[in-house]
Formats: sequence, C-alpha cells, structure tokens
Amino acid sequence: MMENFVFIHGDEWKKSDVAEQIEWAITKSWVKEKWNTVSENWDHDHCEICGWKLYQCDDPVHVVGYCNIESNNWICTECYGQFIRETK
Ligand SMILES: [Zn+2]
Repeated sequence: MMENFVFIHGDEWKKSDVAEQIEWAITKSWVKEKWNTVSENWDHDHCEICGWKLYQCDDPVHVVGYCNIESNNWICTECYGQFIRETK
C-alpha cells in the first residue's frame, strides 16, 4: 500500500497518523491568536495535530496559533495552513 506523507515543521509524518486529528479539527472553528496563558500554572499548549509547542516567547511560530474557543484547544499556523484553511 502506498503511504502518503506530509511535512509539518520540516518533519515527515504519515498522513494516516494525523488524519483523525485533522478530521476533528475541520469540524471546529479556529481563531488566529497569540498564545496566552489562562492560569499561572499553565505555560504552554501543544498543537492538537502535530504536537508543536505554543508558548509566550519572541518567536512568532511558537506564539501565534489558532484557538478553538469552545474547548480552548490549539493548533499551529502550519497545520492550519496545510490542512484546515482550504476546507473553510
Ligand atoms: Zn501543528
């Protein structure tokens, strides 16, 4: 069987390994935002698709993400651009 691959932040992923998260993310609405903490004990989130770390720093690729306000989940800009934007 031919496996499809995708590149996220320069890493190769099997498309089948992220397909479920992408399907889930497509059903949600996402708002582009700067990552910000909601509590003192919380200093980062991970992209729901690729696990990319989002936290407060000077590096835009780690600060800006897409937030789903209902559940406070995050995805990174790269996953949004690759998998979600074209479906909206
Ligand atoms: Zn991601």
